[in-house]
Amino acid sequence: MLFTERRDDAERLSTQTVAKLKELGLAPTPQAYTVWYAYHSGAFPDLTRAIDILISNRQSITDERCAELFRGFFGIEAEQQAVRSAGDKLLSSLESVLASLTIAGADALRYGDVLADASGKLSIAATLEQLKALVKGVAAETAAMAEKNRTLQSKLSENATEIETMRRDLETVRKESLTDALTGIANRKRFDDFIRDSAGQAMNSGKPMCLVMIDIDHFKKFNDTHGHVAGDQVLKLVGRILGDSVRPTDLPARYGGEEFAVVMPATSVTECVNVAERIRTTIASRKIVKRTTGESMGTITLSLGVARYRPGESLAGLIQRADAALYKAKTGGRNRVETAKDEPGPKPA
Ligand code: GH3
Ligand code: MG
Ligand code: MG
Repeated sequence: MLFTERRDDAERLSTQTVAKLKELGLAPTPQAYTVWYAYHSGAFPDLTRAIDILISNRQSITDERCAELFRGFFGIEAEQQAVRSAGDKLLSSLESVLASLTIAGADALRYGDVLADASGKLSIAATLEQLKALVKGVAAETAAMAEKNRTLQSKLSENATEIETMRRDLETVRKESLTDALTGIANRKRFDDFIRDSAGQAMNSGKPMCLVMIDIDHFKKFNDTHGHVAGDQVLKLVGRILGDSVRPTDLPARYGGEEFAVVMPATSVTECVNVAERIRTTIASRKIVKRTTGESMGTITLSLGVARYRPGESLAGLIQRADAALYKAKTGGRNRVETAKDEPGPKPA
């Protein structure tokens, strides 16, 4: 995070920040202080907009909300750590390139001196022998210079390869850090990032965003009956079906354990319920077969809860409402889609 105020500005912002924390009754933690200092400084327009929207929606700003804003805008993630270490490597690679270029520069200067010296001597060279010696000297210097250029060339291309490898490694690390190892779909971290971005977009564009929370029914019993490995096979299947059932703009994710979630930006409750229903029927109609023996393990079902994001509400609040709808699906008999209580969308039959 970068604040670049002058001292007197910083003092003014600090006073405003402390007063604001008092006014809102917030605990003066470093996180809360950072959020409100940033808000007053205006250095983070996205943060300022998010807070202004909260205020205009008359949302109460609690310690928890502050912590969420801090994590969202300033949280230091492992990913940033990876980026920093790759940055360090890149820097040392560039330093090595620079060192090569500096040597090349010095060599080129020296070569220029040799040529100047030779041309000076040329004008006073009296004999063929002297001339021959002069040409020989220049030829040797030229060859040495060409050799140095070749070395430099190969050093530079070595560095270029190193940098390219690093770029690929970094991309792999980034992807891995956002992917669930078992199912290959997005992990919780990616989910958190995506839903936060989508909520921001929903606030800006005014388009609805929906969330589906999904839980496998009686999965403990499935595991107990068929074993953990077969259970994992089911989790992979659910991940695959989620991926196949949603649009490229949606994000299916493994929320944790045997729970999944799908974030659907620019989607109405009706559309979202339709997709959730499609996911539910696809899974329920799939016969699960043990890969090793071909033995039938019956079918599995899902319970799903849908909620639409209310602009300005906390993400924890949205997830909680989708979870409550999911709980309703469970208590209502499982293998069904339920919509959060006060959503305007249709209820599935
Ligand atoms: P309900 O219909 O109420 O959801 O019942 P349930 O049995 O699915 O719910 P419960 O929360 O009691 O059990 C969840 C089970 O999911 C328990 C655990 O063994 C299983 N589970 C969680 N993560 C994994 C995993 O990574 N692999 C496997 N095989 N099983 C998992
Ligand atoms: Mg569960
Ligand atoms: Mg379950």
